[in-house]
Amino acid sequence: MSTQNSRALVLFSGGQDSTVCLAWALSRYEHVETVGFDYGQRHSVEMECRQRIRDHLKGGFANWAGRLGPDHVLEAQSLRDVGETAMTHETKIEMTAAGLPSTFVPGRNLLFIVLAAALAYRRAIPFLVGGMCETDYSGYPDCRRETLDAQMRAIFLGMEYPLKLHTPLMELDKSETWGLGQKLGGDALTQVIVEDTHTCYRGDREHRHDWGYGCGNCPACDLRSRGWKKWKAGKV
Ligand code: ZN
Repeated sequence: MSTQNSRALVLFSGGQDSTVCLAWALSRYEHVETVGFDYGQRHSVEMECRQRIRDHLKGGFANWAGRLGPDHVLEAQSLRDVGETAMTHETKIEMTAAGLPSTFVPGRNLLFIVLAAALAYRRAIPFLVGGMCETDYSGYPDCRRETLDAQMRAIFLGMEYPLKLHTPLMELDKSETWGLGQKLGGDALTQVIVEDTHTCYRGDREHRHDWGYGCGNCPACDLRSRGWKKWKAGKV
């Protein structure tokens, strides 16, 4: 049985960022569980990717196999009822008048963190790990350090539980995220990230590029491919 301080819960969507976070947690903690959220995403591709990634991390990485604990999927369908965004409905992916991408789902990450914190409490896990990133192009206000610090303070007060949130990607750009994956799990992990993680907003799994699957021109594909090219150029 792992000691309490060696247990972590990773917010795991099946995307590149959360997969690198999972590898980061597996390299540090003896027992790592994952949590995902079903909120009526337009494309359930990411949800399908989650299990494949977990299987590959268990099967291909001897040091991590025994550490990877159960996966949890929590319903967050009420986000769909709240209103339309490009992530839950077939609306155009563009910038809104508020200066945010139409993929922004108000309250989504806040809700996910509360649900993950409640699960962590129940599972006696003192560490959350999430792929929030301030350097991201999107400027999602719920990924900012200030937002997260305030929310973790509210959770500490409201649950009386000293939960800590690790955000290993907070200061990294996408090329550095590729680099961190390589550092943590070598070519084998980079291969899993390319083949099995999903980032494309359009849910495209037909077009295969050096950096993985995707439509190649939505903002998420653009960020992922530019990061890949920058990382590759820096390696040579
Ligand atoms: Zn795309």
